[in-house]
Amino acid sequence: MLYLILFGAPGSGKGTQSDLLVEKYQLTHLSTGDLLRKEIASGSQLGQEIDQYISKGNLIPDQLMIDILNKTMDACNSSKGFILDGFPRTVAQAQALDEMLQTREGASTILVNLEVERQELINRLLKRGETSGRSDDNLETIQKRLEVYEAKTKPVNDHYKAKNQHAHIDGMGSVEVIFERIEKAIQPII
Ligand code: AMP
Repeated sequence: MLYLILFGAPGSGKGTQSDLLVEKYQLTHLSTGDLLRKEIASGSQLGQEIDQYISKGNLIPDQLMIDILNKTMDACNSSKGFILDGFPRTVAQAQALDEMLQTREGASTILVNLEVERQELINRLLKRGETSGRSDDNLETIQKRLEVYEAKTKPVNDHYKAKNQHAHIDGMGSVEVIFERIEKAIQPII
């Protein structure tokens, strides 16, 4: 079972590339951002709590995120594997994922890191904000999210580099060209 971690800053194209990977390789797409937004849309107490973090550009607490993901993965039946989009976002989450996968037989993991220049990230997110309706796609929150990414999320790369489960992808260019680069990187394990 493949666990493909699609990794990168906000706006790096994780969602777009996930859609293409799902279509071609029949993987199950798990986007933690989507899961959290669904919880907010349900109007639950938990959703209101989550909204406080997301709308300010902060990460939700690790344990809460880990519990939500664990529950979702348990409820999902996937024969081919998963794309993890937006998780892990801290080293603590990466360690929790390692533990989760230890209990799953034959799990192979790769982190695919989409690297995109900062100004391009901002341009893409502002453009998305024109239609996404997301409370966090505005300049102030985008800048905060990029800060959080640099401080808390980027170190996750090293966790997977140390385990030799890391592929670096140039995330600048057309959607199709970037997809080809990803395919080349995952070919040995897919
Ligand atoms: P995304 O849709 O991946 O850009 O995520 C939107 C927001 O959801 C992030 O800015 C965080 O506030 C929250 N979020 C998503 N995934 C995680 C995670 N793994 N850990 C903590 N917060 C998360």
